[in-house]
Amino acid sequence: MDVRILEEEGRSVKLLLEKANPSYANALRRAMLSEVPTLAIEEVIIYENTSSLYDEILAHRLGLVPIRTDLKRFNFREECVCKGKGCANCTLTLTLEEEGPKVVYSHDLKSPDPELTPVEGIPLVKLGRGQRLRLEAEAVLGRGKEHAKWQPGVVGYKYYPVVEVDAERCTACGECVDACPRELLVLENGSVEVRDIESCSLCRACAQACEEEALSVRGDDTRFIFTIESNGSLPAKEIFREACREISKKAERMVSLL
Ligand SMILES: [Zn+2]
Repeated sequence: MDVRILEEEGRSVKLLLEKANPSYANALRRAMLSEVPTLAIEEVIIYENTSSLYDEILAHRLGLVPIRTDLKRFNFREECVCKGKGCANCTLTLTLEEEGPKVVYSHDLKSPDPELTPVEGIPLVKLGRGQRLRLEAEAVLGRGKEHAKWQPGVVGYKYYPVVEVDAERCTACGECVDACPRELLVLENGSVEVRDIESCSLCRACAQACEEEALSVRGDDTRFIFTIESNGSLPAKEIFREACREISKKAERMVSLL
């Protein structure tokens, strides 16, 4: 299998996977969503809450806040030297103390580590005048298969589009050019050319518009375009790398069991 980066922008990355097959592509997608560990709030101790949201709802909202994760420094609680009691190697304790009137955001949660901080800009609760909130939250490593709050982002893939024009049948009528919703086809010197094939969504509108049946649209099942969009807990490339590591770990376990 070969992997190439097509596009990188902010929290998302577009990858091209070559010399693969659909089961590999799907295994990678599933591993990225459900096997890659990230930090998320698992326990909340509420000392004071006079906001309009009751404690359970607030704790649920806190649980869904993505937290920047450094996998090299953190252990799973049950695998940690503290034997699950919770220590600095497996538990990140965040604190929050706010008084209204104001909107409390995810970045108001104070982290003891400047590299392990909540992703900014997520509103948690609106406090009225004099309303107070004081709490402590413990974030631990987990996996998306256990709870969606540990998913590192969203991942999708599509088969690499292949659009072929049969030059003998094509009358250069231009129907397909008008039919393409993404405007990827152009008429040039009496023949149809495809521009930016990777943006094709395989909708087949061009093939349906062609009365001569000169166009064929198919997906190449050995090449896949992945779109990985991180929620901020891990860089998008790291999500892919970590998923590969998780798959190889599983394979090694399988070999040792056999
Ligand atoms: Zn520990």
